[in-house]
Amino acid sequence: MDLYEHEARALFEEHGIPVPRAEVTDSPQEARAIARRLGGSAVVKAQAKTGGRGKAGGVRLAADPAEAERTTRRILGMDIKGHRVGRVMLAQPVDIEAEFYVAYVLDRAAGRFLAIASAVGGMDIEEVAATRPEAVVRVPVDPAEGVTSATAGAIAQAAGLPPQTVDVLVRLWEVLVREDALLVEVNPLVRTRQGQILALDGKVTLDDNARFRQARWGADSISYDDPLEAAAAAKGLTYVKLDGEVGIIGNGAGLVMSTLDVVAGCGARPANFLDIGGGASAQVMADGLSVILSDPAVKSVLVNVFGGITACDAVADGIVRALDEVRPTKPLVVRLDGNNAACGRTVLDEHAHPLVEQATTMDGAARRAAALVNTG
Ligand code: GDP
Ligand code: MN
Repeated sequence: MDLYEHEARALFEEHGIPVPRAEVTDSPQEARAIARRLGGSAVVKAQAKTGGRGKAGGVRLAADPAEAERTTRRILGMDIKGHRVGRVMLAQPVDIEAEFYVAYVLDRAAGRFLAIASAVGGMDIEEVAATRPEAVVRVPVDPAEGVTSATAGAIAQAAGLPPQTVDVLVRLWEVLVREDALLVEVNPLVRTRQGQILALDGKVTLDDNARFRQARWGADSISYDDPLEAAAAAKGLTYVKLDGEVGIIGNGAGLVMSTLDVVAGCGARPANFLDIGGGASAQVMADGLSVILSDPAVKSVLVNVFGGITACDAVADGIVRALDEVRPTKPLVVRLDGNNAACGRTVLDEHAHPLVEQATTMDGAARRAAALVNTG
């Protein structure tokens, strides 16, 4: 999950990284009052989870409170690269003498982190890396060792950053570790004319897998790009939207992943990954099917369940309940095996829904679901 700039700023502040005074609002009148509190003038900054806000007109200096109100009114509702601006942050303006770039990012391939730093900050770092590669340094960071003052000193020196940035580099690493982030980026980190170092803009990406131990970022703070993923998350389902036509539902991540492979092997494309987990109840099955059946891209559905903890008759009950609830217009192929499979099959046979057919093997079920894509 990416954080908004003002959320990243708050984390930086908590970890002792100097940041400008700032407040957030969604109201132009309130913006006027905030500017007054900040001393009159303010930098009005669109809160949108994308870079390049400055270039898009989403970062503007307002000279006085009245202008802060007008500027806020103009920025609110703006569309920046597909992100609608719902709030602005007003920050105390600073006199910038120099702009730097510093970041830690997970390097998955190397199994390490990478410190990236440049004395050419403020602009798009990809652009700097492309046009002046020598101006961007990359230093591997061993996650077990972390960033000590010595490491930070070496990073700063390699990038040509002033010695006062060393403390920020150490604290930024603490943000990454303590907050379970995959990326922390400050662009620009500035030196003011008064010689102060300040983090003027921040980006933080948190590791969703660590959310369970980060109480502050509750489930409702997650933003999903896909409405189906949002609906599935609201029902506690593990669902990932894919771009094919065969809706897939199964129990256990391993079984679902191999089902995706088998469907692909039959020349069709999976529309999603959906794991109803072990011990899944009829209600979970119904919830899962209703999410998949509401995906307009789905042409056929493959239900692949190997009953272990989950008894197949409970799965069959769930399918029957879902059929009553969502009234599908797409064919379903169901393969039930394992715990109580015979009982589950009988439940479906007796329900005799015209769009439901059963298969006895995973391969056979996948072949049939793939074939139904073209007939459905
Ligand atoms: P981004 O375009 O989304 O990366 O937004 P930034 O917050 O990085 O702002 C873009 C640029 O606006 C920065 O690189 C700065 O040059 C400038 N800027 C941002 N805040 C201030 C400020 O308080 N004072 C001044 N003078 N410039 C600022
Ligand atoms: Mn920036």
